[in-house]
Amino acid sequence: MDFEVAPLPYAKDALEPVMSRETFDFHYEKHHKAYMAKLKSLIEGKLEANKTLAEVIRASSGGIFNNAAQVYNHSFFWQSLRPGGGGAPSGEIGDLLTRDFGGWEKFRQAFINAGMGRFGSGWVWLVLDGSNLKILDTPNAETPLTTSAKLLLTADVWEHAYYIDYRNARQAFLEAFCDKLINWDFVKSNLGSQ
Ligand code: MN
Repeated sequence: MDFEVAPLPYAKDALEPVMSRETFDFHYEKHHKAYMAKLKSLIEGKLEANKTLAEVIRASSGGIFNNAAQVYNHSFFWQSLRPGGGGAPSGEIGDLLTRDFGGWEKFRQAFINAGMGRFGSGWVWLVLDGSNLKILDTPNAETPLTTSAKLLLTADVWEHAYYIDYRNARQAFLEAFCDKLINWDFVKSNLGSQ
């Protein structure tokens, strides 16, 4: 890990009108890059500077953990999105949603409910835990990267993720995430990894 924020996998206006360039100007340019700048200042000259980001997350606590995990979670979030994404997936992932949630509509509602039930700031995740898909929600910077589950998809439910485009309407943001943004190709590639 070279402790640099990766470029976005699309242009900052590519998800408009579902997610605006202005959101990326703040969420990616300010929030995400600030977590990285803070992390670098915290690990400068320390053993962590020679580890990978995942190693730092798994071995740290406090400020180093919070900033490292936020860097990782945001990178994962950008990849979870794509222009013209969302909706019911086909193929293996579609079959797995049917097996483990009863279908796309039930998965969609459970994912939205998890995001709405997360009080305050946090993340909603789709993971592969053993052989089963599960939805998790984590507070603040917490990430299932610290568990044995395989990460497949995430939605950022910190207010800064949706306040510019959806104001206080987290539900509307989560509906847009599910219906118009999910990058199922990213989910499929994560499912097939390792
Ligand atoms: Mn965020």
